[in-house]
Amino acid sequence: MTHLEIYQVLAKTNCGRCQLPSCLAFAAAVTAGQKKLADCPLLNKQVHEQLLVGLSEQPESELHQFTEHLQQLKHQIVRLDLATLAPHLGGVFQNGRLVLSSFGKDFQIDQQGQVHSECHLIPWIKVLLLAYIASAQHQEITGRWLNFRDLPGGMERRNLFASRCERLLKQLADQHPGLLHDLADLFLGVPASGFNADLALILHPLPHFPVLICWQAPEDGMDSELTVLFDACCGVNLPAQLILALGIGMARMFEKIALLHK
Ligand code: SF4
Repeated sequence: MTHLEIYQVLAKTNCGRCQLPSCLAFAAAVTAGQKKLADCPLLNKQVHEQLLVGLSEQPESELHQFTEHLQQLKHQIVRLDLATLAPHLGGVFQNGRLVLSSFGKDFQIDQQGQVHSECHLIPWIKVLLLAYIASAQHQEITGRWLNFRDLPGGMERRNLFASRCERLLKQLADQHPGLLHDLADLFLGVPASGFNADLALILHPLPHFPVLICWQAPEDGMDSELTVLFDACCGVNLPAQLILALGIGMARMFEKIALLHK
């Protein structure tokens, strides 16, 4: 669970009885393993138990899925001709490795499916890179933007995408003004125009995989809105379950950056 999900169920009194200055700091300390939920005396017992289930089950099951998927993908990569594929994937082939950009950072993939980079290697980014290479079809960018639910296989996963990607990103954008600008700088995002939004930012988790984040600030008593759109090529270049994993992983990565931002 993310620290914001934990924060949502705290009393938000900032009373300090957990020996930390605020509930937000307490939520961050729980996700970092430095505090236990029981250290907040105001936490309702039932909520406490639900949170414990979430904290103990989620990371392990996700890690297991990623590890299994990684192994399968590596077996597929071994059989591919990376030099021939490179231009079709929007990458280059250098020194026996395929170089692909993800969020503006270079990653090199060797013929055994090992991923190399000067950046910290997050498991879901490795899976994305290998799945993108192993995809049976590679489509170039179309310029046509779609909601997640309109991508192939997106309809049955739309609620999960809305709750674990878009809602978290909306909370982050609302609570950390300026965060989206920082993300643009960090990840070579490109501001987009022509959208009905206060801020529209295009990011490239993969070369032929543009993602557009549109945020509308709250106005006249109306709540803010945040929508994540995908170029139509994304639904061809990755399956929906991996696009969902990308959305969730991206939201969590931005949440960590938001903590530093604060
Ligand atoms: S004891 Fe609980 S309510 Fe008080 S600041 Fe800590 S987390 Fe918040």
